[in-house]
Amino acid sequence: MQDYNKSISYLCAEMKKQSKSHQKPYTDAIMALLRLQPTEPVIKPNDPMMYCPHCGKPYTFRSAGDIKHGERVCNNCGQHMKWDHENKEVITE
Ligand SMILES: [Zn+2]
Repeated sequence: MQDYNKSISYLCAEMKKQSKSHQKPYTDAIMALLRLQPTEPVIKPNDPMMYCPHCGKPYTFRSAGDIKHGERVCNNCGQHMKWDHENKEVITE
C-alpha cells in the first residue's frame, strides 16, 4: 500500500511559498494524491455495503486489480479505500 503523506506534506509546504493566484496547481495535486491515499471506508451497522468516505456512494466491485493491489477504488470518484474489512466484503457485479 502506497503512502503519499510525505508528498502531500511537501506540496503543502511548497504551496505556502506561492502567491494565492499560483496555488491552484498545488491544491489540485494534493486533492489527486488524497484520492490515491487509501482511507477507511464508511461501515454502517446492519448494512453489508461499504461506502466511499469521499463521495458517499456504495462500493461496487471494479476489477480483480482491486484485490491484487489490496485496495478498493470507488467507481464514482476514484477514492482508494483500505481492503481490510474482509467480513464486510460485498461484491456487486
Ligand atoms: Zn467515491
